[in-house]
Amino acid sequence: MKKINWELWKRALFDLFFPGDCPICERAAYLDDVSYACLSCLDSIAWIKHSRCKLCGVGMDGLDYAGLICKNCREHSPVFSSGRTMFHLNPAGRSLIHQLKYHGDKRILQDVPLFLERAPDFLEFITGAVLIPVPLHKKKLHKRSFNQSVWIAEAFAREAGVSTVSYDCMTRIRNTPSQTKLDLNQRRKNVKNAFALKEGTCLDGFDRVVLVDDVYTTGATLDACASVLLGSGVSRVEVATLGHG
Ligand SMILES: [Zn+2]
Ligand SMILES: [Zn+2]
Repeated sequence: MKKINWELWKRALFDLFFPGDCPICERAAYLDDVSYACLSCLDSIAWIKHSRCKLCGVGMDGLDYAGLICKNCREHSPVFSSGRTMFHLNPAGRSLIHQLKYHGDKRILQDVPLFLERAPDFLEFITGAVLIPVPLHKKKLHKRSFNQSVWIAEAFAREAGVSTVSYDCMTRIRNTPSQTKLDLNQRRKNVKNAFALKEGTCLDGFDRVVLVDDVYTTGATLDACASVLLGSGVSRVEVATLGHG
């Protein structure tokens, strides 16, 4: 029997009595009537504009030419070939991710069209790609009852139109401990051989795959997933995340 996720129930009950509170400031219920988070909160997020690392997408202020690569990517050479991220994890961005990931507040993704207006070229980047969400181990999925990366990939695919599809085809075969306290090398070891393709997955004809995750931290998880896809014959793997930090 499917386990009841009390966190989601608590949230649903709370929303029944306090509908539409902004997930960032927790005030200003639908003040502007166009977005779920209030527009001033959305504007306070550190959106990444044009100067950014071509591999992970992190913003690199003061520099502006194509082909920039950040220090982390230079040192660790990820196997994916490019990437985009929408915003840096300042307090506003962090609370957005927190509400989505730990409270299952999917309505945050209603604002993806507004995110896309604030993150230049992101829509072009995902358009026409097969979006593959980073998987959770089934034990974690059972406990949480949702995978936020699947939600994000679906929301991206919805906005990018019919040429873009979300394909939940990866699985986590090892239930790795939480990465939050690990450094990059420990994270790499932690996720090594942790991923595989789901049985019956067919990647034939997929020229361009974009892995989707909520946050880019060190890139170790995305890199491990990209290795699996490259090893399965996909010729080009890229990455896209909501936040970076
Ligand atoms: Zn707000
Ligand atoms: Zn980078």
